[in-house]
Amino acid sequence: MMTIKAPSGDLDPEDWDTFEANAHLALSAAIQALRAKPSEPVWRPPERSIIEHLDGNLPARGGDIEAVRSRLTQLLPFGVGNTHPGFFGWVHGSGTPGNLLPEIVAAAMNSNCGGRNHIAIHIERQVIAWFVALFGWPAQSSGLVTSGTSMATIIAAKVARDAACSFTSRQQGLSGPRLTGYVSQQAHSCLDRAFDMLGLGSLALRKIAVDDNHQIILSDLEEKITTDRANGFEPFFLAGTAGTVNTGAIDPLRDLADIARREQLWFHIDGAFGASLMLSEKHRARLSGIEQADSLAFDFHKWMHVNYAAGCVLIRDADQHRKSFATRPDYLATDGEALAGGEPWPVDFGPELSREFRALKVWAHFLEHGAEKIAQSIEKNCDQARYLADQVDAHRNLERLAPVASSICCFRYAPTGYFPNQLDALNQAIVTELQSSGLAAPSTTRLDDKLAIRVNITNHRTQFEDLDRLIKAIDEIGGRILDDRIRAGSTEEIGSGQTDRAVEY
Ligand SMILES: *Cc1c(COP(=O)(O)O)cnc(C)c1O
Repeated sequence: MMTIKAPSGDLDPEDWDTFEANAHLALSAAIQALRAKPSEPVWRPPERSIIEHLDGNLPARGGDIEAVRSRLTQLLPFGVGNTHPGFFGWVHGSGTPGNLLPEIVAAAMNSNCGGRNHIAIHIERQVIAWFVALFGWPAQSSGLVTSGTSMATIIAAKVARDAACSFTSRQQGLSGPRLTGYVSQQAHSCLDRAFDMLGLGSLALRKIAVDDNHQIILSDLEEKITTDRANGFEPFFLAGTAGTVNTGAIDPLRDLADIARREQLWFHIDGAFGASLMLSEKHRARLSGIEQADSLAFDFHKWMHVNYAAGCVLIRDADQHRKSFATRPDYLATDGEALAGGEPWPVDFGPELSREFRALKVWAHFLEHGAEKIAQSIEKNCDQARYLADQVDAHRNLERLAPVASSICCFRYAPTGYFPNQLDALNQAIVTELQSSGLAAPSTTRLDDKLAIRVNITNHRTQFEDLDRLIKAIDEIGGRILDDRIRAGSTEEIGSGQTDRAVEY
């Protein structure tokens, strides 16, 4: 038998067979942890003994692969909890076991995806082409697979800013009238951060009021644009949200597209999780207008359940996209068909040169599950949010705090006759107990100055029974806290961890 010569670099295994055996064991432990998850607590705090032994000093000498494997697999139970059916916090996707495969392959390839001529570049282009088509955009639109919507938003806002400055901003920075942008008060903080990082200042991003459905008020928007112009500002950017973090509301995208066209503004859409509704024939129409956007930011790692982290930016005008980022020094010059070829390079469309092969897990995910199955799971989650709202509405101790537009139901424990001024602390205490007991993991937010238990179901593992259990647990915990309090005759504040600021998602 011919012996295969394995690499024997300084950091390669001394014994490849032992390495392979340990790699198999690590994989088995990972799969076992995923299989066992539903019978575990949603979340448990990281164990002290592990935190205290992370190795305070940079290890001067390494250990063998068995020891490393065992320390790695020890970490498996201490995740965020989003692989569990009872995870309802913030907006997290649940991931899939299938994603282990592309992660292994990507690690083995160790590709740097800033450019050059290799298969990863083609796979990323394929992924971008799939989604350009899904959203009904022209085929020549450009895009990048990013770490998430935050990064996608920075890229989109930069193209918008530079286009508004005829691209002089790239060399000369900002001068002339102050550029202003427009979003609803419910827009995600990543837009503020993009304005901050791009030198526009977050105050230049105007926050327009929302109606009872948490959608942007169009007349307020138009009024603000007009006053800004009258005051010497230069409106350039309008962003609609498809799926707000607080309540899942979808702005009237078609109306926003009209206003953007009329006012000659760049039209961006934050579709972090809501853009995933495009996969569903049943819900697609609610995103009408998305096909007209100049840029779109969304996540693969939320409602599509690709493992963290993977998002996407799409830019309708590929030429503007490239003009906003391309700068190629001599040492990155391209050279036709060989390894230094492969034009266009991703580095010309975003800030990063060294880039992970994130597109692989997105590509493999859709090969494995197909768009229809992912859409069905999204539809089930919408039905579940609706079901939860119905249970809340029918429950005498629960009060709903927002309409259900997609995956999110916000409500609170509010038994009649009890401490109306202390409901915030009571509901915070309920959520804290749910999380720390590992029973379920909703999060909180504030709506109309009330603390809400916020249940977001972007979770393909959640069953309807999990929601019944959640309601029951909230009622029991709430009842017990009030009973304890009455028994103690206490007038102290309920709970301890009351939050008084909006939570970041
Ligand atoms: C999660 C979220 C973001 C931020 O996305 P990341 O992928 O976490 O960077 C932006 N907007 C909305 C509406 C979100 O839900």
